[in-house]
Amino acid sequence: MADWLRMAPEELDALDPLLAARADFMVDESVVYMDGNSLGRLPKSTVRRTAAEVEEMWGRRLVRGWNEGWYELPVEVGDQIGELIGATPGETLCCDSTTVNLYKIVSALGALAKGGPIVAEGRAFPSDLYALQSCASACGRQIQYIEPGPHGWTETGAVVDAIQDGAAIVVLSHVDFRTGRLLPMNELTAAAHCAGCLIIWDLSHSVGAVPSRVSEWGVDAAVGCTYKYLNGGPGSPAFLYVNARHLEKVQCPLFGWLGSRDPFAFEPTYEPASGVRKFLVGTPPIISMTAVEEGVRLVARYGLSSIREKSERLGDLFIHLARRELVPRGMSLRSPEQSADRGSHVSLAHPDAYRICRALIEEESVIPDFRTPDMIRYGLSPLYTSYCEVQRAVEATARVIDSRVFEKFERDFAAVT
Ligand SMILES: *Cc1c(COP(=O)(O)O)cnc(C)c1O
Repeated sequence: MADWLRMAPEELDALDPLLAARADFMVDESVVYMDGNSLGRLPKSTVRRTAAEVEEMWGRRLVRGWNEGWYELPVEVGDQIGELIGATPGETLCCDSTTVNLYKIVSALGALAKGGPIVAEGRAFPSDLYALQSCASACGRQIQYIEPGPHGWTETGAVVDAIQDGAAIVVLSHVDFRTGRLLPMNELTAAAHCAGCLIIWDLSHSVGAVPSRVSEWGVDAAVGCTYKYLNGGPGSPAFLYVNARHLEKVQCPLFGWLGSRDPFAFEPTYEPASGVRKFLVGTPPIISMTAVEEGVRLVARYGLSSIREKSERLGDLFIHLARRELVPRGMSLRSPEQSADRGSHVSLAHPDAYRICRALIEEESVIPDFRTPDMIRYGLSPLYTSYCEVQRAVEATARVIDSRVFEKFERDFAAVT
């Protein structure tokens, strides 16, 4: 066991280089928020920025706002996100939802790929699979699923086998939304390219928490969302990245005026814009995109290397305490033990996970989330999650199990879990 794990959480917080970042977010100290991997907290600067955008820009500048910054925002915010994933300027765009962007990207790259199936993780985020299913028939391709290994996540070797078996395009989550398993992006991208296969990464659960270098590693394309570790707010627009070597060859499957060469020429026939802008479709959600910009700026200001380092430690501490307090109470670890193989959340399973999760929220003001059928995910968002909160979350879970207070909650799932 690492020596630092013996230190009191108060001490770890006092020594935390990211301690100051917590004050940049709206924080109600009576709540232990462990769901930043689903909806990140609100940055204080976002309150000011969106208010100003509404009052000053929309309120006073009105339609003039488009020539005073709004028009460039999807590309500018795209490049700021691009910096966090190691993209070269001009390869990343902020737009639409992750699902829509995945559809656009798979369809666009499908035209460049060799013959063969699209390979996906059988246990991928279902919306990603739905996007692939709706795209596959249009592309005239089959989907081949990689089934999870004994731990419940996709094994690296199984991906390599599928690539060597003739995959044309492989679509992978950098961090698995259930277990938090982190796949080796550099290694798998190289393996894909060796076999002449294109590779697309979903960075939804890694962007803002785990660094990547998509351009340097030659990743063909990527998508991801901005309301998790980037703290962009509910329903904030997602992003897409396309490697510069493909950009001039690919086409967005849905032609829209803002992705056209000259939207205000009002030409009846579509001509694509050059560069990544061709993946824009309709008018972007400007207010929400300014919130994304604030969230991205915060991550960039504190830096992904400190964020990743703290994320690994928060996870290590969580697992250390869960082993001691929760495994003896019937919970089991569903996330990788080694921090190098893990993103920024830890999942525990229990047959009564749904009701335990409800009781944590209602009785203990500890907010993780539940994933069917038996998993509780504890999200660790390094800019604002403290070591003390990790301890409070573990202790609260132990109390809920010991007191059996969870038994008063219904087994029926709420609409959103
Ligand atoms: C959060 C998440 C999404 C979200 O998709 P939207 O279309 O933006 O709602 C998609 N894929 C993965 C892997 C996710 O984690």
